[in-house]
Amino acid sequence: MTRPTIAVGALGGTIASTSSVADGSEIVPTLTAERLAAAVPGLASVADVRAETLAQLPSPSLDEPTILRTLLWAREVVDAGATGVVITQGTDTLEESAYLLDLFWDRPEPLVVTGAMRSPQAAGADGPANLLTAVRCAAERQSRERGALVAFDDEIHQARWVAKTDSMATGAFRSPVFGPIGRCVEAEVGYGVPAGRVPPLRLSSGQETGDPRVPLVTTYLGDDGYLLDAIRADEVDGVVVAGFGAGHVSPTMAQAIGRLARQVPVVFASRTGSGPTGRAMYGYPGSEIDLIERGAVGAGWLPPVKARLLLWALALRGPLARADVAAEFEARGRL
Ligand code: ASP
Repeated sequence: MTRPTIAVGALGGTIASTSSVADGSEIVPTLTAERLAAAVPGLASVADVRAETLAQLPSPSLDEPTILRTLLWAREVVDAGATGVVITQGTDTLEESAYLLDLFWDRPEPLVVTGAMRSPQAAGADGPANLLTAVRCAAERQSRERGALVAFDDEIHQARWVAKTDSMATGAFRSPVFGPIGRCVEAEVGYGVPAGRVPPLRLSSGQETGDPRVPLVTTYLGDDGYLLDAIRADEVDGVVVAGFGAGHVSPTMAQAIGRLARQVPVVFASRTGSGPTGRAMYGYPGSEIDLIERGAVGAGWLPPVKARLLLWALALRGPLARADVAAEFEARGRL
């Protein structure tokens, strides 16, 4: 059997961060992709690994254009013969990068994102184990046709649902409601659900240089719409509101959403971290029924940050009609 060829692209993050002070604090990304791969025991027996440093950034410094450039790199290496791709990056924004990659990943080959919660110099560093799991996952035939995946702490998650749910624990990633779809145990990768995915969006040539502005506003007790009203409709391509519960807001905020939705697409999501927006349950001012009547679109099961990325990705096409936004959220925000 021919050995799989796995391309590893490194973007930075804790997995690549080192300290230059005696007590090991103040870590910053310094390690190259080659150094990351070289530190993993047994990696060479799993796959022929081609490592490339794409950036050396903490993940809060990543942005959508950097992730789209990463996507284009991943396409190139697959087209040149890689059987799978692994991206390493910081965990803070990993759930967002993975979903943005997933939205546009139009190849059957696995694209797996991973990182670490402990730096390479820390006792019990988790980076090498996570990278090994990610490479095993990318080398596994059963990982094909699943879009982008996140491998972390021996678990495999769908990019669509995974979230960082702890700021410090090594098991920082969960997929609320759905759970992980696979595990890596004793070097074997297995899945509890058959392969399949929502079809990717098309990224037309030239679109990768676009950078639409789609802000996210989280509502709060007593929200009078102050922040939302400060948004100038002519300066944004869409807005996402993280609402209470199933996507609810105060009556004053509902009016602000209605005013904005007459000018640009407004999507409401749930700030709870789990569960979908409602469609037809509540009828009070600021409820999901009220917001839909005012022109806003429910994010469905997509959490606010992923709803924002979907709207951002759609806005690459140019000005958006409400009906198109509603149709895409219906297709990609539902189960
Ligand atoms: N805490 C982060 C990490 O785990 C830092 C970052 O996201 O770059 O990598």
